Amino acid sequence: MKKILTLGPNTFLWVNERKGLIYNSKNYKSLEFNLTPGISKLCNILLDYNHLYSVQYDECADTSIKDFIEGVVSIDAGYVHEVGQSVLSLPPLLKIQHDMNFLKKRGNEFQDFALRYLSKLIVFVGGSCEENIYCKQTIYPVNSLDTLSGHEIICFLKSIVSPYLSEIVIIFSDIQKYNDLMMLANYLGTLKSNITICISNEEENVPIKEILKCGDNIKIKYVYKPGRFDKLHIHSEDANVVHTFLISSEDNYVEFEKIYNKHTTDNLEVIPVFNGRNFEFIKHNVFLSKNEILSSELTKRDIFIHQVLNNNFFGTLYVMPDGKIYSDLSSPALGDINDCIYDIILKEISLNYSWRQVRDSGKCQLCLYRELCPSPSIYEKMMNIECVCVDV
Ligand code: SF4
Repeated sequence: MKKILTLGPNTFLWVNERKGLIYNSKNYKSLEFNLTPGISKLCNILLDYNHLYSVQYDECADTSIKDFIEGVVSIDAGYVHEVGQSVLSLPPLLKIQHDMNFLKKRGNEFQDFALRYLSKLIVFVGGSCEENIYCKQTIYPVNSLDTLSGHEIICFLKSIVSPYLSEIVIIFSDIQKYNDLMMLANYLGTLKSNITICISNEEENVPIKEILKCGDNIKIKYVYKPGRFDKLHIHSEDANVVHTFLISSEDNYVEFEKIYNKHTTDNLEVIPVFNGRNFEFIKHNVFLSKNEILSSELTKRDIFIHQVLNNNFFGTLYVMPDGKIYSDLSSPALGDINDCIYDIILKEISLNYSWRQVRDSGKCQLCLYRELCPSPSIYEKMMNIECVCVDV
């Protein structure tokens, strides 16, 4: 007797040469299965949009097909019904009205959309500091001969009037020698964006209270280099001061834990960093197992985002001390602070150095989990590797 299996509109079905994966984005349950010839045939029909996510099968089909259908029903990813019974379902497909190609074709009208994409600016003020090892992978001062003046930063920020720019990070390399500090802080305090002033914990005598008085939107972030956690600036009354500890080894983490246990503030965070030698440490503490990927509870929207955007990088631009602007610090500059911001954004959209980098190459391209897996991260770039999984 014939029956029909219909997958639900929140169900994703992915197949590769040997295996398949069904994921219910409502209850986050999944089903992995081997692609036998019979199951493969069913999946090909299900994946054909014209069949409205339904496939007819024979109730007397072989055990593997019955197990497959039972599995699908058991995770509420689909249901079985009689032939002739009208059930409408559509596979979850991203609507394309606002995709990048569409926007590019709109020419000048694109400008209206462009600013919506820019949500975060990271400005490296520049100056002399110890080293550059971590500035390409996290918020950390850069050592440079150039310095952006307060006037240059303010002019640039004034050229971007956008309610979508929600976060501005200003990273100082040598804040004590920066003459325009209070002028800049006063201006930043007038903006609607959240402002983070970032400095190394090695800096002494920083006028924290005066900077914070410039605006309720301002917070200070002290960054502590691995193994240099001794110069602490933690004071219980500083609600708007965050302390970020970069860790590159288990020992660093133990050291951080001692600090964490001693202080009552919530404003302490850790960021694992790659130092060129600690591959195993990153692998154990940052990389993901298949189970972790499958239990990340992604919604339909999250999966759509993974299909087209890199949600680690999308919307962020970096301004370096020489005024050049980047979307990715390992790629060529998109322009500089004198260029029109629309042109910079359009260039990134066209060249795609980072904002739309998804898992569409190498081993990831054919992986069943690529739309559930986190977007490519800075760790892969720094470590020059393709994947962040440990057992796929
Ligand atoms: S990193 Fe690539 S290969 Fe590994 S699980 Fe994610 S998509 Fe698959």
